[in-house]
Amino acid sequence: MTRTTPQSTDLSDRPVAILAEGLKKTFHDPQRGVVEAVRGIDLDCRAGEIYGLLGPNGAGKTTTLRMLSTILAPTEGRAEIDGVDVAKDPLEVRRRIGFLSGSTGLYPRLTGRETLRYFGQLHGLEADALDASIEKAIQDFDLSKFADGRCETLSTGQKQRVSIARAVVHDPPVLILDEPTTGLDIMASSDMIQFIESRREAGRCVLFSTHILSEAERLCDRIGVVYGGRMLASGTLDELRQDTGEEWLEDVFRELVQRADAAHGMAPKGDRPAEATR
Ligand code: ADP
Ligand code: MG
Repeated sequence: MTRTTPQSTDLSDRPVAILAEGLKKTFHDPQRGVVEAVRGIDLDCRAGEIYGLLGPNGAGKTTTLRMLSTILAPTEGRAEIDGVDVAKDPLEVRRRIGFLSGSTGLYPRLTGRETLRYFGQLHGLEADALDASIEKAIQDFDLSKFADGRCETLSTGQKQRVSIARAVVHDPPVLILDEPTTGLDIMASSDMIQFIESRREAGRCVLFSTHILSEAERLCDRIGVVYGGRMLASGTLDELRQDTGEEWLEDVFRELVQRADAAHGMAPKGDRPAEATR
């Protein structure tokens, strides 16, 4: 597979695939009380773009992605996927996204092929289109040798391939991935990175979260730095460098966080994004 690099071309005339305006999510936690997980995030991602949400644990990345995927309802704000409002038509939104997170499980008793069929149907594929999509996914992800074995019998790498295939069996224009390489070994992680790049090549939009700076640096056309439930900055790596006057992404990140801490003061204990938690 050919390598691609983040684009230097202007993506602003591409169709908007993901739009978020003022997204907020507040949880009422029995132990911690009110948790403002996401405090107003704006975002736009274009077709043919890889956009990375970069932030430490507890920053609000997963909560944001879950709102965009219709798993969680926003407390405030709105979002659209491929022009469809997540609150008004969640079923239609689900047809237009593939969602994958570390905890997205496979049904142990289903075979890979049955898994693809189940999720293809769930996403609205019918009869002929369904069969063709299953075959294509089996080819694309090289599943043919084990597609008829139950998922519980597969190796970790094989399970991962089935998981990715099931997320895109309906060829959605938008892919939302929550920490896609966390917990994977080097080969599996490299496969995942190539897969993300291949979606961009196909003109799809990929939004993913990570706390790994090198991953964001390598893959992303644009990076949104998330911290304490806020988007601190968003842009190409060069734009973020110019904004902060720093060269290395580590230093860019540190500078943005220091500015945010100065602007918002110390967040209350228990609500402060801590790198070492979770
Ligand atoms: P990230 O994915 O960036 O690590 P999360 O979105 O998972 O961050 O979490 C953001 C904040 O919201 C954290 O403080 C987390 O503990 C809190 N949080 C997430 N989900 C819930 C929940 N269901 N109930 C209460 N608090 C939650
Ligand atoms: Mg998370």
